[in-house]
Amino acid sequence: MGCRPDLRYKWAMKTIDLRSDTVTLPTPSMRKAMAAAEVGDDVYGEDPTVNRLEAMAAARLGKEAALFVSSGTQSNLVALLTHCRRGEEYIAGQTAHTYRCEAGGAAVLGGIQPQPLDFEPDGTLDLGKVAAAVKPDDVHFARTRLLCLENTLAGKVLPLPYLDAVGKFARERGLRLHLDGARIFNAAAALNVHAREIVRPFDSVSVCLSKGLAAPVGSVLCGSREFIREARRWRKMLGGGMRQAGVLAAAGIVALEEMIERLPEDHRNAERLAAGLGRIPGIAVEGGAARTNMVFFSLDKALLGRWGPFMAARGILVGDHPGPIRAVTHYGIDAADIDAVLEAAREAAGSQPGSPQ
Ligand SMILES: *Cc1c(COP(=O)(O)O)cnc(C)c1O
Repeated sequence: MGCRPDLRYKWAMKTIDLRSDTVTLPTPSMRKAMAAAEVGDDVYGEDPTVNRLEAMAAARLGKEAALFVSSGTQSNLVALLTHCRRGEEYIAGQTAHTYRCEAGGAAVLGGIQPQPLDFEPDGTLDLGKVAAAVKPDDVHFARTRLLCLENTLAGKVLPLPYLDAVGKFARERGLRLHLDGARIFNAAAALNVHAREIVRPFDSVSVCLSKGLAAPVGSVLCGSREFIREARRWRKMLGGGMRQAGVLAAAGIVALEEMIERLPEDHRNAERLAAGLGRIPGIAVEGGAARTNMVFFSLDKALLGRWGPFMAARGILVGDHPGPIRAVTHYGIDAADIDAVLEAAREAAGSQPGSPQ
């Protein structure tokens, strides 16, 4: 029985995975650092590599301390549990990861009530609407304790003046502030400022090492020394106290040291993708442009009908659902890959491959 040629072809083909930046693989330098990592028992505070990562993350984000956690979800959950008690409330966006995509953890495990509000088109929460949602001190109501924002939100970068206004608002109302900064370094790259400038108003910030920064596992939660001391207890309670975690933290250190500065390349590739897709009949790019490392686009009905299998046959993994499809650029994708995607998209749309636009 001979090999099926189409299968061999598939195996030889590079996969271009636009589904998410979570698909990034650890870099060779991460693999090396992981193999050589000095480790100890981190629950005893004795893993030198974890300690180094935490110190480095705290310094980068301009906070006193940091905590290495297993995931962004755990990081946000630990933050919510640390900020809020049972019967208290956090305000977050309807589509915020902390509200919509974390299995209701704060409510399930913390007795913390979410108060979701619609995001404005620019990814902010309108402070007038937030003010109206803050509950008065009355036995009927949960106590509003915390306001959560997300940056970037679906690739959108929150404006710095807005963040200053949020800081002032929270101080005036006695609210705490948490930032889900899973992709904070994408926001910093887009604004060409230090991440520290973005997170200054926030009491805590959660940062993913395992998305565009390409570490295999892990997030860091940053805040005051006292906040992180308390967060460490919650992490342990959630089963997130890891022992010789320096093997993972070593990759996180490389992520912070080597992978932040290349993020503008992802943004350029996203722009290249948005511009190219926008010129193809049957494809509408949301907002007409990329947002940091993401492009959102819709397909007309005819194209949608053949899109998924057509792209998959060419090794391109991308959504094929109605409504905006998200394409994400990352460390595993270069400009030539974007050109290959555009070529395939043009073919799918029925224009001649390589024809002038
Ligand atoms: C991915 C993501 C998270 C959660 O990270 P995991 O490591 O997948 O749990 C949290 N917030 C945002 C905005 C994210 O994109």
